[in-house]
Amino acid sequence: MELEGKVALVTGASRGIGKAIALKLASLGSKVAVNYVAIEASNKIDADNLVESIIRLGGEAMPVEADIRNSEAVKVMVEQVIGKWSKIDILVNNAGINRDTLLLRMSDDAWDDVINTNLRGAYLCTKFALKSMMRQEWGRIISIASVVGRVGNAGQSNYAASKGGIIAFTKSIAREVGSRNITVNAVAPGFIITGMTDKLPSERKEALLAMIPLQRFGQPEDVAELVAFLASNRAGYITGQVITVDGGAFP
Ligand code: NAP
Repeated sequence: MELEGKVALVTGASRGIGKAIALKLASLGSKVAVNYVAIEASNKIDADNLVESIIRLGGEAMPVEADIRNSEAVKVMVEQVIGKWSKIDILVNNAGINRDTLLLRMSDDAWDDVINTNLRGAYLCTKFALKSMMRQEWGRIISIASVVGRVGNAGQSNYAASKGGIIAFTKSIAREVGSRNITVNAVAPGFIITGMTDKLPSERKEALLAMIPLQRFGQPEDVAELVAFLASNRAGYITGQVITVDGGAFP
């Protein structure tokens, strides 16, 4: 229970990688605020179910609705978490979307949606959650980037730009807040089996699998393990880093 007494906020936690991270942090004793966005009724149901599962397992959790693109909504979400548990120790910027297409076919909406969710969302959540961490002189900010933010990918220029932006943002904030004992790191997953990757055509999946030395796609839990380590005291001297979890595809 190495995260006993900690409070974590995980964005986009109702499914996929965010859900695995929320479960892992809760299993280590952290209280977990499960962020979701109420675009469809099922999103609230997924978040409520996850909160119930964590409580059934003996943990503490609460659902917090907010569209992370919206500054006021993020501010209110952070106030709700601090109102209930008095602080935020761990922020995991996980929520993200992709709208893949070649640049010449890309709509302004596809560009703006991806940048606003993945990059602006992480900026807003970090800005509002940071104050509590600064006061207590302890904090962990972990953002889910992507290998695509390191190496680029044809057909994903908007997504790659947002994830490359997360990496540069991480390195900059790490320099700003290191003196307050706050670490800021990014995790760059490769191909992880979730709703985001389900929709890829099978030929594309086969080509991707052939690039992975460990010969399997990643599971959300593979990412959650690293996030849990970075959130712990064991990772107290690691900051400003981007750590890849991709089965060896992009060393
Ligand atoms: P996912 O299954 O599609 O889940 C994405 C989550 O983000 C969902 O919970 C979604 O909520 C939430 N979200 C989207 N827009 C939001 C908004 N405006 N406000 C709040 N929440 C929002 O995707 P995933 O694969 O778990 O991805 C999680 C993170 O890992 C993303 O940042 C993604 O870019 C990154 N990543 C994934 C892979 C991969 O192979 N899967 C690889 C590299 C990086 P709804 O349920 O409401 O849609």
